[in-house]
Amino acid sequence: MATKRDYYEVLGVSRNATQEEIKRAYRKLARQYHPDVNKDDPQAEEKFKEINEAYRVLSDPKTRDQYDRFGHAAFDGPDGAGSGFGPGGFGDFGPFGQGGFDPFGDLFGDLFDVFAGGRRQRQRGPVRGRDLEMEIEVEFKEAAFGAEKTIEVQRVEACARCQGTGAEPGTPVQACPDCHGTGEVRQVRATPFGQFVNIAVCPRCRGEGKWAPTPCRECGRAGLVQRRRRIAVKIPAGVDNGNRIRLRGEGDAGLRGGPAGDLYLHVRVRPHPTFLREGDNVVCEVPISIVQAALGDEIEVPTLEGTHKLKIPEGTQPGAEFRIRGQGIPRMGGYGRGDQIVRVRVEVPRRLTARQRELLREFARENGEAAGGKTFFERVRGTLGGRSAQ
Ligand SMILES: [Zn+2]
Ligand SMILES: [Zn+2]
Repeated sequence: MATKRDYYEVLGVSRNATQEEIKRAYRKLARQYHPDVNKDDPQAEEKFKEINEAYRVLSDPKTRDQYDRFGHAAFDGPDGAGSGFGPGGFGDFGPFGQGGFDPFGDLFGDLFDVFAGGRRQRQRGPVRGRDLEMEIEVEFKEAAFGAEKTIEVQRVEACARCQGTGAEPGTPVQACPDCHGTGEVRQVRATPFGQFVNIAVCPRCRGEGKWAPTPCRECGRAGLVQRRRRIAVKIPAGVDNGNRIRLRGEGDAGLRGGPAGDLYLHVRVRPHPTFLREGDNVVCEVPISIVQAALGDEIEVPTLEGTHKLKIPEGTQPGAEFRIRGQGIPRMGGYGRGDQIVRVRVEVPRRLTARQRELLREFARENGEAAGGKTFFERVRGTLGGRSAQ
């Protein structure tokens, strides 16, 4: 047997790491080396076992203390890693005992907390499935008016082949032969400190008390499988960037009759080339000529659903804003709509013909500009545009 690595080294934490730091390091590594995601790396499984073993010892203050004092020697019982140290020792770690690993350990993060916390009473009851989170991207107008989308989610479901029992169809589920259906086993441990009797979660049935002699071909007794599912989603009208849609019961399946978790969709709205959203309002910028600004005009502006005729009054200033009521984003829950704000950009011609130049000079003379005209401050006062309603 190869020399064992230091448990702190395995988890990549310092010797005085807090329990929280140890837990965080473990979760990160367990996810990284989980056999499910490293199917073609035979070393990942070994590594995963090593990580679990290190965590098993360091996550419990009692065993951690023993490890700190005696090192690996503290655990070199008759059957190697996994020897208990009396009540509250390894036995409380349930499915991770005996150097085995739980193929679904990573998926059942919540369940794991229950085991690691040593609250054995709760292990056999129903456990709610994990909540899942995903991002969903919607078009600007889909967000405004609502839409039906189909998403694909990877989740844990009860195995359809065995109906979640873990037994190959047509074969029985029996009382566990190791614990006779109690879910618990008594272990007598010989340690350097004497013998200890230890009540532990039955490693064979993981505390369930049931055992399928012929494992289901699909799930291998787990009763659960990973599935990719297509789900129809109703996007409510008025949804905005960063909103969260909750799909109740569309997360991972629960355990032992527990309810499924929820699926949370984080909405990302794709930007629109013409419209910008400001709360319930949509803002768009419309170019007009200096002549339209000066003389006024009626122009056609795009709206979310078509076009709208907008009157530009005489003397409209650059940056002036006009409000088209009720043409914005529908408010979530169906309480009216926001407005559309049209911001005017006055375009100054870049090239002029000789005739246009002459006309503008004539305009300037008429305006008194050639003879000095207004002072700078008088002109500044005149440029403050306002937002007017239509
Ligand atoms: Zn199955
Ligand atoms: Zn059992």
